[in-house]
Amino acid sequence: MSASWKKLWMAAGAGVVSCVIACGGSGQPTSASSTTAPPATSVAAPPAAAQSEPAPPADQTGGFDGAKAFDQVAKIVSFGPRPPASDGIHKVQEYISTQLKSFGCQVEQQDFHASTPKGDVAMQNIVAKAAGTGPGIILLLTHYDSLGSVENFVGAEDSASSTGMMIELARHLCAQKGPNSVWIAFLDGEESFVNWDKDNDHTYGSRELAARMSVSGELKRVKAVILADMIGQYGLKIPKESDSTKWLADLVWKTADRLGHKDVFINQEVGRIDDDHQSFLSRGVPSLDIIDLNDYISAGYWHTPQDTLDKISPRNVAIVGYVVLESVGELQKKFK
Ligand SMILES: [Zn+2]
Repeated sequence: MSASWKKLWMAAGAGVVSCVIACGGSGQPTSASSTTAPPATSVAAPPAAAQSEPAPPADQTGGFDGAKAFDQVAKIVSFGPRPPASDGIHKVQEYISTQLKSFGCQVEQQDFHASTPKGDVAMQNIVAKAAGTGPGIILLLTHYDSLGSVENFVGAEDSASSTGMMIELARHLCAQKGPNSVWIAFLDGEESFVNWDKDNDHTYGSRELAARMSVSGELKRVKAVILADMIGQYGLKIPKESDSTKWLADLVWKTADRLGHKDVFINQEVGRIDDDHQSFLSRGVPSLDIIDLNDYISAGYWHTPQDTLDKISPRNVAIVGYVVLESVGELQKKFK
């Protein structure tokens, strides 16, 4: 498998950041949206106004309110940069917890210390829990920290978009009681401090959560993990990430098809992406990453100060929220 991996290095700000992106088959990119995509200048610019792709009314997206979700994205971005242990992230932590509690979620703020190339860093995962009638757990993930090594980086798409979407999902899911509990984890420390590829300098929050749940025995109760990361950009096209658990990806893509959104959940595969789902996959838990990384790289916005709110389509946040909400329903039926 590793022979087909390809490292993509991008200069960003003063430093160099990297991300491991797989390319298919014989080391060639699997799609036009991969690393050989045309330069940013030939990519259609996003509409000037963020509202140029408004969210559909909530009754067209299963009750998921895309306008509310977009407002949450805007709110997260409004706190400014939010790298781990910063003033910005402390405000975001308080905001997220307050919102979740207002929806009736049981909220756990899990403080921990991560050993990073920059030393010991205080971090916090926030887990919203909606109790089920049985022991099973459906676990949803998003990271809410932002990359600290690029100045003025607010990470609207990476990943305030999925964070805002998960807050709106919590509003629904914490008001329901299904056969399985639904946990929504807002993860700290996904981004690297110095170099993603060295010394496990990434995904601190998800590794901490997976380790804790393993020790407590809760990990065995998890039926499925769904991670969303970078799901709000204009022109969103989400391929199936090749490491993701096949039956779970098929369930979500089938749901998207049923809801009429195979334009967003496209019938294409992309190679391995290193992301928070790997912390659970490596422990044998069925896990899926819903992400459109390559298009955002191709557009020239990924890990740059241009990752701003105007790059986010309220419509696309609504569609992904709708698909995830309905997919949770499908999982509840599958594991009742
Ligand atoms: Zn990132």
